[in-house]
Amino acid sequence: MDLSSPISSLKGVGSHREKALNDHGLQTVYDLLYYFPRRHLDRTTISPIRNFTKGDIVTLIGNVETFGEKSTRRGKIFQVIVSDGTGLLTLTWFNGVRYIKSLFKVGDKLAIHGKVDYYGGFTITHPEFDKLEKDDDPVSTGKVIPLYALTQELKSSGLDQRIFRNIMNEVLSLKIEIPEYFSDDTLLENDLIALNQAIHDIHFSNGIGELNQATKRLKFDEHFFLQLLMALRKRSLHHSGTMPLPDIGPYFKLISDSLEFELTHAQKKVIKEIHLDLKTPISMNRLLQGDVGSGKTIVSILVSAIAVGNHVQFALMAPTEILATQHYHTFNKEFNKANIPCALLVGNMKKSDRTPILNGLKAGSIPVVIGTHALIQDDVHFKNLGLVIIDEQHRFGVNQRAVLLNKGTHPHFLAMTATPIPRTLSITYHGDMDLSIIDEMPANRIPVVTKVVEPMRLGKVYKFIKEEVGEGRQCMVIYPLVEESEKSDLFAAVEAHKELDEKIFPDLTVGLIHGRMTAEEKDDVMAQFSKNEISILVSTTVVEVGVDIPNATVMVVEHAERFGLTQLHQLRGRVGRGAEKSYCVLVKRNVTDASRTRLHIMEETNDGFVIADEDLKLRGPGEFFGIKQSGFFKYKIANMVTDGPIIRDARKLAFEIVENDPNLKNESNKMIRETFIRDYADRLEGVSLT
Ligand code: ADP
Ligand code: MG
Repeated sequence: MDLSSPISSLKGVGSHREKALNDHGLQTVYDLLYYFPRRHLDRTTISPIRNFTKGDIVTLIGNVETFGEKSTRRGKIFQVIVSDGTGLLTLTWFNGVRYIKSLFKVGDKLAIHGKVDYYGGFTITHPEFDKLEKDDDPVSTGKVIPLYALTQELKSSGLDQRIFRNIMNEVLSLKIEIPEYFSDDTLLENDLIALNQAIHDIHFSNGIGELNQATKRLKFDEHFFLQLLMALRKRSLHHSGTMPLPDIGPYFKLISDSLEFELTHAQKKVIKEIHLDLKTPISMNRLLQGDVGSGKTIVSILVSAIAVGNHVQFALMAPTEILATQHYHTFNKEFNKANIPCALLVGNMKKSDRTPILNGLKAGSIPVVIGTHALIQDDVHFKNLGLVIIDEQHRFGVNQRAVLLNKGTHPHFLAMTATPIPRTLSITYHGDMDLSIIDEMPANRIPVVTKVVEPMRLGKVYKFIKEEVGEGRQCMVIYPLVEESEKSDLFAAVEAHKELDEKIFPDLTVGLIHGRMTAEEKDDVMAQFSKNEISILVSTTVVEVGVDIPNATVMVVEHAERFGLTQLHQLRGRVGRGAEKSYCVLVKRNVTDASRTRLHIMEETNDGFVIADEDLKLRGPGEFFGIKQSGFFKYKIANMVTDGPIIRDARKLAFEIVENDPNLKNESNKMIRETFIRDYADRLEGVSLT
């Protein structure tokens, strides 16, 4: 038997169970060994009911005392009352009653996990639970009991926790070696136990200390291989043969001397960091992070002025036409001072407008171009593209970035993002880039006042808007647009516009902008809004990124509970960009516990990094980055939010290894290489191992 043996070769796995396990993604001995428990029960993780407080997430062991069905206004519910000798707890199910009720007998011993609520007594709704055998109780046995994630299909094939543990026991007793890929020195330096030991102990350990050591080792390995990918990618992105841009050039000074404001220290600092990169013949690969309103645009203009001053071309790509157009106007205004032509390249342009731009880029007579995805079309050629900036780069794929960069000879590259990301996350998710952070707001900013309101108080809000508009200022009303129900949401925005326009603000100009309008229509509306010909703009979330209307002082977000924290923060960043005090009104219409927490955080702070931290805690990294489905994080056991020190150690090791052995060719790295290629086969794009 070896790691690749099929599970059917194990005692206790007949064809029935084999099929169920296969369907669950478990084919081989290796798969089983790496099927880590979802939770462990031991003395220290079990809470007595007596000590519960509402809101706690708990694990407990209790005996079924009684159970039964109840009819309520919402339909049938099923309840089980358990006791652990210190108190009683009610378990409640609102659906699947018919099935659930067949699962319990009086006297059953259960391990229960869930969030404690209080309705005249402690209760957990829809708990996770497992039936335990006599000898499964860590309190009486003093052992650590693993609990696996088992689906209903597995359970109905007879694979309950006890049987599953028996199978696991059997696999482990075969003592099949998993080859260690780290040297003894590495293990010692990083305080790690051997891989085989860790795999054994994660399933069956004699105490929490052993279990923690095992967990640490396995987490380390998961972070290590992701960091290895980052290290390899980073290396492959650092091309030599890039045109160095050593001079600060005449345009930088011309533009910076003419600014109406003083650059912040943070802006100066990141410009210096970027310029240091640009001076070398190794291509820059840097991420510029700065909260909304921190002034990334002027940084990108000054940096592009350096490029143009060194006689290379510059391209900026933005995710939406609105944003590209706005950037174009800002760039154009500054570069006009230096008589440098700028062009805008977006989709759906007339051929007669587009052709001269393509010609100018190819001939080199247009040094600065701002655009959307239109920039990466096949017929766009540059004479000498030396610097590329991508705004809101998370909206683009790795491939799109590559296509744009390939239009030059390894041009310098800067990505910009307004989504503040906690640092340990940055080095994970953007681990293949260098990082510059603008961690300071321009001094003239007055924090936006944020208020959560019930719909019944909207009358007051509208009155306030009238006053602000009376002072010459403007307002945005945002409606959510969620893909699944796009049509009805669109309808809601259109209806709201009608009502606001005709009934609530009959004397004011109320505009509407949404994603279904053509680019021209959108531009038209935005142009009117920025000229203050529209006082109130009703919008779906197309204004989310980038739009800069300093005169807008009030933002109303409808159905605020439907937005994520980061998104709300981005939206709020659309106001408070001028010198006037600004307001953000979050209208809550349908609130859950989670959304109440979110909205409260928005009232409490304006700091994007604090909000990002909270968002990450609330939603987890997959949702946070909107990449839940993409399989970016192959973590079984690692946790990006809480593993900070382990991530740093794993990153250090991965980067050292790649530094010394860029293609992982050394004999000592052979196993690392094999494991990496196996686990990351689908992610090796752009990574060279030969
Ligand atoms: P973001 O980082 O969100 O892209 P912008 O670059 O659009 O922010 O800047 C927001 C506003 O702040 C712009 O109107 C810009 O002109 C202004 N701004 C940028 N830097 C400064 C500064 N140092 N002092 C004052 N205002 C600034
Ligand atoms: Mg911006």
